[in-house]
Amino acid sequence: MSSTVSPIALGQIIWVVGLIAWFIIRYPYARRARRTATLRRDGTWRERVLLAIAFAGLFAIPALNLATGWPRAFARDPGYGLVVLGAALFALSLWLFRRSHKDLGRQWSASLEVRQDHQVVRSGVYRSIRHPMYASFWLWAAAQACLLPNVVAAFSGLVAIAVLFFARVRFEEQMLIDIFGDDYRRYMQETKRIIPGIY
Ligand code: SAH
Repeated sequence: MSSTVSPIALGQIIWVVGLIAWFIIRYPYARRARRTATLRRDGTWRERVLLAIAFAGLFAIPALNLATGWPRAFARDPGYGLVVLGAALFALSLWLFRRSHKDLGRQWSASLEVRQDHQVVRSGVYRSIRHPMYASFWLWAAAQACLLPNVVAAFSGLVAIAVLFFARVRFEEQMLIDIFGDDYRRYMQETKRIIPGIY
């Protein structure tokens, strides 16, 4: 048995460990969300399609590739450099994912929803960007692009989060403007979407 782990195996192991950590972070919030009353739910069908695309690109396609090697024609060796970069991006993503769940608290939901007694959160990681949780998904997708030994599985995450983000963010902001009016408009003027000071 060789004593070194190949970058191919290492990238896969890190991706799986990151995925498990992601589920552990989300679990208590998903559980609580089921018990929190909802005041308004928007674009139900669009939301279902978007969540299915995110699930496919960030989970199902990479998992299928890991389990079966499909699609074999697109296999690649990421090399140690990319795997180390991917691990760093994944760590940053998980940190931001955990922080944004903590800061959003009971206002969190997987699809577009407004809760009973919903408050605009503007503290913690929400102080400089409005969508830190989506920023954490972008980081996850970037980590996946570095880590996985298959071009299709590696880049399916970036395609999925791009679709989810650009198809949802305007509706989400409009929904929050409808509910909170100038309060949310002022918050929009003070913040960027996902990159502090830039976008
Ligand atoms: N877009 C945010 C939140 C994702 S969770 C992020 O990326 O961090 C989605 C839900 O969060 C939406 O249904 C919306 O009701 C709620 N939400 C988004 N921004 C919020 C804010 N600043 N304060 C309170 N709730 C918010």
